[in-house]
Amino acid sequence: KFDEERLRSLIRAVPDWPEAGVMFRDITTLLQDPQGMRMVHNTFADRYRDQNITHIGALDARGFLLGAPLADALGLPLVIFRKPGKLPAETISVEYTLEYGKAALEVHKDALTENSRVVLIDDLIATGGTLLAANTLIERLGGKVIEAAAIIDLPALGGSAKLETAGIPYFALTSY
Ligand code: 5GP
Repeated sequence: KFDEERLRSLIRAVPDWPEAGVMFRDITTLLQDPQGMRMVHNTFADRYRDQNITHIGALDARGFLLGAPLADALGLPLVIFRKPGKLPAETISVEYTLEYGKAALEVHKDALTENSRVVLIDDLIATGGTLLAANTLIERLGGKVIEAAAIIDLPALGGSAKLETAGIPYFALTSY
């Protein structure tokens, strides 16, 4: 059963990283707790079971740690959205701005088909730039994001509001 207080006790706050004034929410402490991880995986799997989802889209890199077990639990294909230069076959790419600078995201052209119904997953929503970039790539391939899921939402950074404005439902297990 999902226990938000227990989840929060497993997330470490690291002040002034990667730069002064930033409170980084560190999930490595959660990764080291097998029962906590199982709770997280089960919560996501329960939410997206029987929703006619066709693909799990996982974001480089911490999203991979959540997306792979979710795809496995639901018996769905895993599609990875990667930082530039990592994917070997033909890709499409989008540039975006994020909390700490500029970035780009890529996906293989043949990873999705028209009318794909994708759940996107990452560890955290900050400015929303990463998830919105993935949404752009999915739309270009003719697919649709059914929901963007994360462990943590940081609403003060505006990402979840931006997703809402863009018409992308989002789901986070906790927020700071
Ligand atoms: P956004 O694109 O929403 O601005 O930033 C989200 C991305 O940055 C995610 O991929 C996430 O892994 C990373 N990120 C930004 N801030 C934090 C943080 O405080 N903790 C963690 N774990 N990841 C963060």
